[in-house]
Amino acid sequence: MSAELIAVGTEILLGQITNTNGAFLANQLAELGIDSLNQQVVGDNQARLDAAITLAEQRAEIIILIGGLGPTPDDLSKQTLAAHLGVALVDDAPALAKLQAYAAQQQQPMTPNNLLQAKYPAGATVLMNKVGLAVGAVSVSQGKQYILLPGPPKEFEPMVLDQLVPYLLKTLGHDATMVSRVLRFFGIGESKVTTVLADLIAGQTNPTLATYIKPYEVTLRLTAKAADEAAAKALLDPMEAEIQSRLGQYFYGYGDDNSLPQAVVKALAEKQKQVTAAESLTAGAFQATLADVPGVSEWFKGGFVTYSNHTKAAFLGLDEATINRDGAVSEATAKAMATGALAKAEADLAVSFTGVAGPGPNDGQPAGTVWIGLAQRGQEAQAQLFHFPGSRAAVRGRAVKAGLFWLLK
Ligand code: ATP
Ligand code: MG
Repeated sequence: MSAELIAVGTEILLGQITNTNGAFLANQLAELGIDSLNQQVVGDNQARLDAAITLAEQRAEIIILIGGLGPTPDDLSKQTLAAHLGVALVDDAPALAKLQAYAAQQQQPMTPNNLLQAKYPAGATVLMNKVGLAVGAVSVSQGKQYILLPGPPKEFEPMVLDQLVPYLLKTLGHDATMVSRVLRFFGIGESKVTTVLADLIAGQTNPTLATYIKPYEVTLRLTAKAADEAAAKALLDPMEAEIQSRLGQYFYGYGDDNSLPQAVVKALAEKQKQVTAAESLTAGAFQATLADVPGVSEWFKGGFVTYSNHTKAAFLGLDEATINRDGAVSEATAKAMATGALAKAEADLAVSFTGVAGPGPNDGQPAGTVWIGLAQRGQEAQAQLFHFPGSRAAVRGRAVKAGLFWLLK
């Protein structure tokens, strides 16, 4: 069985975007044992896309179009495939209802182009889009499978993992299930992860092991193929135990949707603890990140942005003379900020951030020097020193995540 991927989009041809979807899907196909002998990239042009489909069906059984399912005039994949197969486009009722609800909520009338997103080639199996509006589809015609997938990776990847892979497994007649387990790590780079796990990665067959990078984080996806969930778990558990024995200190949680701030909010809820923060170099970014998580209001008290020594004194009760003596970027100041915030906000936990965001040094300390403080009711405050690499944005971003990570540990 072989598949041919066709990435559709002039932006890809021009090098404005990289075909990461192609890489992602090729990886999945390889795991399924489906050969991928050729790939194509084609612009947003109906005639050339049709020619690409014609070429692909001469050399593959599964033809997969990536992108071009949206509402804009350059989105032509659905229409082109339907015309190629000689079928009409028909409505998927649940997708149409979702579109109508979306249009009502936006108070915008729907255009015919918008309606197109709920359509699929007649006779096809619909692939639901849990994230966006445009449905995907699998059409079977003369022994070939034609598959439509959306372009945006945040829609594409879940559709592939949750719907296309199970469909293909069934089509291939494997009565296997694929079970994935996602492990999330902070504070270690991808190259270090791949070095530490080199033997596991090289020896992988079942489960397979893939690394993904998120901003300042690494995610590992373990995927086992087995007769049922219990058998898959028996394959995944020993592999995870081995990984945890090597990287456990960096581990913070499971799952694709379990970001560091989400994990923190869950942990706060479990421990029934309310948090506050005093932020100097991050200037509120830590608090904004927490507030991205729905339901945080019960566990986040609000906090302080204390960028200057004056506000550290005025808002948190620090003594300006002491800050001047110890240095604004120091262990003592980080601890005093956390202690001050804890008391002022009447919280159970307080995190503080003081450091040199860069690009240049400040107060004789190099960019990337960051002290993070943690105060808890009834305990002495602690502080940790970090030397973060990268730009101003990277230093601030890493500081926020390091503060979140500390709350989990
Ligand atoms: P939309 O509804 O957003 O228009 P679509 O299914 O029509 O989605 P495209 O218009 O082709 O998809 O692409 C939308 C965006 O998705 C692109 O701007 C790009 O950011 C991303 N994208 C598309 N194709 C790929 C690809 N092969 N790899 C990575 N990203 C892609
Ligand atoms: Mg589009």
